[in-house]
Amino acid sequence: MSLSSMPEQPKVHALNWSRERWELWCRENKLPRFLGKQVQKWMLQKSCFDPELFSDVSKAGRELLKSSFQWDIGLTVSQTLASADGSEKILFRTHDGKYAECVVMPTENRVTMCVSSQVGCRMACTFCQTGKIGFTRHLTAAEIVGQILLGQRVLEDRGAPRTRVTNVVFMGMGEPLDNYDEVVNACRHMISSDGLGLSKHKVTVSTCGLIPEIERLGRDLPVRLAISLHSPDQESRSKMMPVNRRYPLADLKETLLRYPVGNRHGITFEYVMIDGVNDSLAHAKKLVKFLHGLKAKVNLIPMNEHPGSPMKESAAERVSDFQKYLAVRSIPAPVRYSKGQDVSAACGQLATKKRDELNQTPRSVALTRRRELIAESTPR
Ligand code: SF4
Repeated sequence: MSLSSMPEQPKVHALNWSRERWELWCRENKLPRFLGKQVQKWMLQKSCFDPELFSDVSKAGRELLKSSFQWDIGLTVSQTLASADGSEKILFRTHDGKYAECVVMPTENRVTMCVSSQVGCRMACTFCQTGKIGFTRHLTAAEIVGQILLGQRVLEDRGAPRTRVTNVVFMGMGEPLDNYDEVVNACRHMISSDGLGLSKHKVTVSTCGLIPEIERLGRDLPVRLAISLHSPDQESRSKMMPVNRRYPLADLKETLLRYPVGNRHGITFEYVMIDGVNDSLAHAKKLVKFLHGLKAKVNLIPMNEHPGSPMKESAAERVSDFQKYLAVRSIPAPVRYSKGQDVSAACGQLATKKRDELNQTPRSVALTRRRELIAESTPR
């Protein structure tokens, strides 16, 4: 095949390159080495995605930028669902027709964004809807940061008093450390003074426990770390989270003891409370033992039940007893309810619905609609 008849390579997005990659490209093209920072500023601070308008870049630089990169983030809002609690769930579509989710949660003092790092997830945690979908693909750094821009736009359209995202948590679809390079690059865009300028204390990467990547993260980034723990017991955690067979709790603890918490406000442990699975006082006792020696906070999250799962939310009394057991041992353990429960806000629920919808044959669409009509016309 001659070169001219080869298919054109898709262009890389301007937000997908690391600082080092930009510097190399600038050197090769005899452009100022800070051009990458200028591009980041135009896109993330001024929401300008047209290189022709980059007034502080030379004409030659603007032309080369325009012809070399992709400028459209490629995410579109497919559906938004506003919850009574003020959060808004966004189902977004990628340029190649995949669906994932993010949630924007505005309060009086801040706007928190829960972002996805992958379409689906390969960690297969039994209590998680995303785990059931399986893995489709990683999201790029541009697509991860793009969710924040989408969230801000949704709030602007709504006329919200606060639209600028102040906090980011990686607790949407996917295991962020399974997509290490893109997630680290996205975090750098978030905390850079040339990017979104968020405080490093307000970006939290949450992982199910990929030990080698936790160690790398401790060296590479100053952001906060959260561990999806969900059980302090090796056997029951392995049943809930297959990753625990590869990286057992004892090794995870060793890694966390060495983790450079320094000025990172300690480590947050996420603990989904599931009825009869991990919510007994015996579990609480083991949890205290596991956390010994760590600067830790625990978020207790009553399970968000979803169709097809036999697991149920723990009773309020059990959650309260568990919390008290930790509190008297000086472990803060606020109860956090998933935002947007009325609009399928638990990670993966909306994308699963969309995927099922897309996979339906015309016959099954008709059957579903018929069932809905019967349900609608049946007196309650
Ligand atoms: S809980 Fe997190 S790591 Fe586990 S399957 Fe769900 S998205 Fe993946």
